[in-house]
Amino acid sequence: SYLPVALLLGAGLAYGAYRLQVNRLSFKEQLRSAMRANEFQVYYQPVYGHLSGQCEGVEALMRWNRPGVGFVRPDIFIAAAEAEEMIIPLTQHLLRLIERDLQTWSTPPDFHIGVNIAPEHLSSAGLVSDIQTFMANVAARHPLIVLEITERSLIADSGQARQNIDVLRAQGVRVAIDDFGTGHCSLSYLQKFPVDYLKIDKGFVQAIQDSGDETPVLDVIITLAQRLNLAVVAEGVETQPQFDYLTSRGVAFIQGYLFARPMPSAEFVPWYVRHSPPGSAS
Ligand code: C2E
Ligand code: MG
Ligand code: MG
Ligand code: MG
Repeated sequence: SYLPVALLLGAGLAYGAYRLQVNRLSFKEQLRSAMRANEFQVYYQPVYGHLSGQCEGVEALMRWNRPGVGFVRPDIFIAAAEAEEMIIPLTQHLLRLIERDLQTWSTPPDFHIGVNIAPEHLSSAGLVSDIQTFMANVAARHPLIVLEITERSLIADSGQARQNIDVLRAQGVRVAIDDFGTGHCSLSYLQKFPVDYLKIDKGFVQAIQDSGDETPVLDVIITLAQRLNLAVVAEGVETQPQFDYLTSRGVAFIQGYLFARPMPSAEFVPWYVRHSPPGSAS
């Protein structure tokens, strides 16, 4: 008879759905317990300012060092946290970690602190208060907060993201479009959305070869940013020829292994002392 087969199939499907749910709950739980157990850390990657010839700021990058597993790739656990609706609590946790780290720094006012903000967070009603709390808690250092958002955020916007950006920019926060050129951003969004920086994805930067091959897409992105009065940040700069190419075309900020790798706060503090002119750190 077909009945046992149907029953088995039904039970199998139900079990599959159940397992999926259990796994979802458990990943959320894993993230929550990892936060409680302090398994997350922030690494800071210095950003070089070509005009001043020195480190102008850092990008905060999340790291998850799982006991017995090692470092989990950020793009993987961030995507999972987004899918499980955990990216907002995780980012709030990151902000607390940055606040703690900044107490040990002696960077000048307006030192840039870049924080990556996921689309769901950008378009949430709580973003403004999350960032205001952060600003209040790091007020002693008076950093310039740069929210790094992606092209995805602009496309998904229902109006709340734009409103959040308007409120925060009026309070001195700046906004960067991250990984520019890799998403599906229509160029018209750039005219509509008030942003300050354009971060060129490392894929375009790494197309710059010592051999001097042409890089038409990169060149057009730089020109576009300049026409829109946006400062350009190049990420993934690994070689001197890449650095020379970019700076000779007016790219203001350079980020990449050539200048410095991301590092924990305890390493960044002495690094910054070595890389800032004597007497400039307050
Ligand atoms: P992203 O925001 O574009 O960050 C830049 C990535 O490029 C970082 O990877 C950085 O370590 C890497 N990088 C920097 N210089 C070089 C270089 O010269 N060469 C190469 N090959 N890579 C370089 P990371 O730390 O693995 O982060 C990957 C992505 O994960 C980030 O890309 C960002 O999208 C996401 N992410 C990391 N931390 C956070 C976070 O706190 N919140 C959110 N929402 N996303 C985060
Ligand atoms: Mg970024
Ligand atoms: Mg980027
Ligand atoms: Mg990138």
